[in-house]
Amino acid sequence: MSQQALAGHPVVSLKGVGPKTARCLEKLGIRTVEDLLYHLPLRYEDRTRIHPLGALHPGRRVLVEGRIETAEIIARRRPALVCRIGDGSGHLLVRFFRFTARQRTELDRGTMLRCFGEVRSGYSGYEMIHPEYRCISEEQAGIVGGRLTPVYPLTEGLNQTTLRRLITQALELLDNSGPNEALPDWIPPAILSSNHYPPLHEAIGLLHAPAADTELEAITRWNHPAQQRLAFEELLAHHLSLTRRLVRMRSRRAPVCQPNHTAERDFLSALPFSLTPAQQRVIAEIQSDLSSGSPMMRLVQGDVGSGKTAVAACCALSALAAGYQVAVMAPTELLAEQHYRNFTAWLTPLGVNVLCLTGKYKGKRRTEAVQTIRQGDVGVAIGTHALFQEEVNFSRLGFVIIDEQHRFGVHQRSALRAKGLHDGFYPHQLIMTATPIPRTLAMLSFTDTAVSVIDELPPGRIPVRTSVMPASRRDEVIQRIGRWVREGRQAYWVCTLIEESEILQCEAAEETMSRLAAALPEIRIGLLHGRMHSSEKESTMGAFMQHEVDVLIATTVIEVGVDVPNADLMIIENPERLGLSQLHQLRGRVGRGTKQSFCMLMYQPPLSDIARQRLSVIRQSNDGFAIAEEDLKLRGPGEVMGTRQTGRIELRIADLARDKALLPGVLEAAEWIQQTHPECIEPIIRRWLGDSAGYADV
Ligand code: ADP
Ligand code: MG
Repeated sequence: MSQQALAGHPVVSLKGVGPKTARCLEKLGIRTVEDLLYHLPLRYEDRTRIHPLGALHPGRRVLVEGRIETAEIIARRRPALVCRIGDGSGHLLVRFFRFTARQRTELDRGTMLRCFGEVRSGYSGYEMIHPEYRCISEEQAGIVGGRLTPVYPLTEGLNQTTLRRLITQALELLDNSGPNEALPDWIPPAILSSNHYPPLHEAIGLLHAPAADTELEAITRWNHPAQQRLAFEELLAHHLSLTRRLVRMRSRRAPVCQPNHTAERDFLSALPFSLTPAQQRVIAEIQSDLSSGSPMMRLVQGDVGSGKTAVAACCALSALAAGYQVAVMAPTELLAEQHYRNFTAWLTPLGVNVLCLTGKYKGKRRTEAVQTIRQGDVGVAIGTHALFQEEVNFSRLGFVIIDEQHRFGVHQRSALRAKGLHDGFYPHQLIMTATPIPRTLAMLSFTDTAVSVIDELPPGRIPVRTSVMPASRRDEVIQRIGRWVREGRQAYWVCTLIEESEILQCEAAEETMSRLAAALPEIRIGLLHGRMHSSEKESTMGAFMQHEVDVLIATTVIEVGVDVPNADLMIIENPERLGLSQLHQLRGRVGRGTKQSFCMLMYQPPLSDIARQRLSVIRQSNDGFAIAEEDLKLRGPGEVMGTRQTGRIELRIADLARDKALLPGVLEAAEWIQQTHPECIEPIIRRWLGDSAGYADV
């Protein structure tokens, strides 16, 4: 049997897997027998020892055995079947609140019973409620297996027993077909031995069915070589795949865009500020990529307010001067419009035609915009995802700028890059984000991307002062807003709820609005939420910018990018429900002017320990990088990056936070494999990333 055999074996080929079970397994990402083998237990139960009934401890989950001495139905509100078992050393009551007629006859005096469950203290001694049990024969008594019992992550409709049975089948298949053929080890033996890693099939066998004397301690702490080996291989697969993509990108051609010094000087002298050294450095890094002739793939990280927009506009000049179009993608209409205002103000005096295309452009306006882009009469096209819909075709797209990248998936990025493909040239790509990629993540998941960091804020910015308080102090906060507004200052009030429920979030915002209006009738309040028409949103935002509105009540739609320097107080409700990086982004809306700004986090008690810890991180730090590292520790990478949604990197076994110590070894192994065992690259990538491994990326 070849490797094809296990990887190519669909789960339905196993005994007992019908369409329903197959659907459940699919939800766990399990399609093939090989997938099943990578579905590792969460923990283990020790059913290798029978505990004497006379020496039980409450709270422990244990295996016991005994003969039924009495079995009776005790009728209270609900009848219960209660059996008393004994083994000579003591007794235990076993209670069943639900039971069938068959159980009633089966569980009778004299039967030998083996039970696994939690020992509890009851009225009359220790008991087990609804244990897993089996009636055993005289000969079976006292004989147990030598392996620990795995407990797997489940999904609705699938239980432990079924999953255990299937995995046992998969392991048998592996053994019978010769492990090396069915599940070949693609990691060269030299790497395995230098890390003291077991071969793949051994690691898998051990983790699904550890012998009773396995160091459970190490497994629990995710320290066992068998676990590390699997995580190592998975990280290696991702790294190899990203490197391969990078090499492919490098071999491609892109328009050569030299900086245009005249245009740049005009641009800079018209700006109301001078660029910080960090901005200048990043611009130089980008310009060098733009003139290199191969497609740029660069990420600009800069904390909120670090001035990424001006950097982007300045770099756009190079592409424009070379005769190429520039596309600027924003995650929301609000932000697209803000960019549109900035780019128009900065670039139209230089003779650049700037256009905005978002979802709200319909009918004739839209057709016209699409036509202008196609004919090449526009230099910079700014928009939301509407920009890469099918009928939008650029005449000469040379440079794509994506703001706040985490909202766009890899596929959308590829779609946009494909739009720019002409005469064998790929457009340059710049991604700007305020959500810092923690160093640990950057090592791996961004190897196909160069990174520039704007590590300095414009001068004169004062760090936001953040406080944390319970929602019971709402009235006090409202009074404070009243005083604030009387001093001529503005404030944000952000209503957050669980993300999925946009409707509830809007209702909460509306309710806050009427409370505030009732308490402070003299202040001017604006409302901004996701269910409003975009023209309404725009006019509210405009009014806030013009200071025709004092307090802007908003949902998280204002999260990214919005810039109103006179607003320097922000209240955030239910901060405990948001990610730390998201909170930091929200808070970044204030602190843009020259006065001390404040942020009040108004939580709903009681707070869990972890929530308390997280809020104190945000209170004590104004550093986006430090916050992101903490977030990674407290929540795991998927949520920090929104990687589940972007599909940038999805891991089955490894965890970047937990396994970061493996990364240096992974990088080293990758290099060695690339040089000496290039034939292993493809199978390793295929095993862990499947067919999706970056082929879709043009
Ligand atoms: P972000 O990096 O969060 O996208 P923006 O580009 O929106 O930040 O810039 C925030 C604010 O700072 C804007 O009002 C912008 O005009 C201003 N700004 C940008 N660069 C500088 C600078 N070098 N000096 C002063 N203000 C700047
Ligand atoms: Mg921005």
